[in-house]
Amino acid sequence: MREKDVFCKIIDGEIPCYKIYEDEEVLAFLDISQVTKGHTLVVPKKHYDNFLATPQDVMHKVMDVAQRIGQVSIRLLGAKGVNILTNCYKEAGQSVMHFHVHVIPRYGDDEGLRLEFKDKKVDQLSLPVLAKDISNELK
Ligand code: 5GP
Repeated sequence: MREKDVFCKIIDGEIPCYKIYEDEEVLAFLDISQVTKGHTLVVPKKHYDNFLATPQDVMHKVMDVAQRIGQVSIRLLGAKGVNILTNCYKEAGQSVMHFHVHVIPRYGDDEGLRLEFKDKKVDQLSLPVLAKDISNELK
């Protein structure tokens, strides 16, 4: 049997958390690391390894709760922006292998947190083929 991950333990009440939302399928609680004030995790109660492995209906329910918490971050906490993000697999920074969405309120002076997309020099001529390959795979 698969060893329980930390979020399964939180869902089963074996580890405490600061809960902020719960329904039959979704739980949301404060991230222990609080990279910014109000940093929250939204998880499905049923275990799926990550976003890519989660059925669409469950994913939609998790994202719906994440959206509402993002809206509350602006309305209640005074955040000026919000990052909604989810990491899939270790190489992308996933450390807990249970699908979770981070809701990270942004205040403009968020010391210690930097999400940056740097332009890389790519061969622009390769992009049409790349786009076509991915597009074909989606069909
Ligand atoms: P990941 O790196 O997998 O996207 O994010 C995992 C997150 O889970 C981290 O931000 C980490 O702080 C959080 N986390 C890990 N263990 C616990 C815990 O026991 N309680 C809570 N509330 N958050 C946790």
